[in-house]
Amino acid sequence: MPDRKIAVVTGASRGIGRAIALRLAKDGAFVIVNYNGSREAAEAVRDEICKEGGEGAVMQCDVSDYAACEAWMKEIVSTYGRIDILVNNAGITKDGLLMGMSEEAFDQVITTNLKGTFNCIRFAARPMIRAKSGCIINMASVVGVAGNAGQANYAASKAGVIGLTKTAAKELASRGIRVNAIAPGFIETDMTSVLSEKVKEASAAQIPLGHFGKAEDVANLAAFLASDEASYITGQVIHCDGGMVM
Ligand code: NAP
Repeated sequence: MPDRKIAVVTGASRGIGRAIALRLAKDGAFVIVNYNGSREAAEAVRDEICKEGGEGAVMQCDVSDYAACEAWMKEIVSTYGRIDILVNNAGITKDGLLMGMSEEAFDQVITTNLKGTFNCIRFAARPMIRAKSGCIINMASVVGVAGNAGQANYAASKAGVIGLTKTAAKELASRGIRVNAIAPGFIETDMTSVLSEKVKEASAAQIPLGHFGKAEDVANLAAFLASDEASYITGQVIHCDGGMVM
């Protein structure tokens, strides 16, 4: 079993999750790179970690599947002994105006973003409670704080992640487990690459710092929250958004 801290990053095959996985590995953690469908991309992240002298493994799990999450977390503990850091990053969008939004689009986004976060906390907290220590970081969004036309499902899921974060922080603090959320603004990833140039320009105009952030900007914050330097911080929602929501 690795001597390093064991970090689990959901949705680490691409975008923000990938950057967090690379950064936590650089900081010395053994990183479990989770993916849902993009196996090759996840393996490339693991290979990059190893090339830089780090250690990691690739594990598939659909975070929206409660039973699969229970089995996955058990497998992690039986293989690697414990879970020190859990980053609930996996997320999807299915945008559309409220009045035209299908039941399926609403359910899929809530089930992946909110229930997926609950599922992973539910089963990763067990070994953390036994160890009397742990750190959980949930990916929220500025949209979960401020709302956004065309994203009723996504905004509701991220507002839910914020409530879940604060509740988990209150319930788990006495067990030595810290739980925080990051609320990114517009970050350059596959998720935002689908936006038209017109929407990107209009969005950038709402950002006091004037430009989209990079996945590494979010990874820097995640690395801090996962570190001992953040040992007195729990239950917080920290924005990484160029000043978009103040
Ligand atoms: P992305 O580039 O679209 O990547 C999404 C990641 O989530 C992929 O690794 C994907 O895995 C994984 N995923 C999706 N559904 C999953 C499931 N059911 N089980 C396991 N993994 C799943 O997204 P991103 O922009 O990096 O966003 C990462 C997180 O930050 C999300 O929670 C998102 O809501 C949040 N966020 C992003 C922005 C932004 O501007 N980009 C802003 C605010 C918040 P596969 O590749 O295997 O499908």
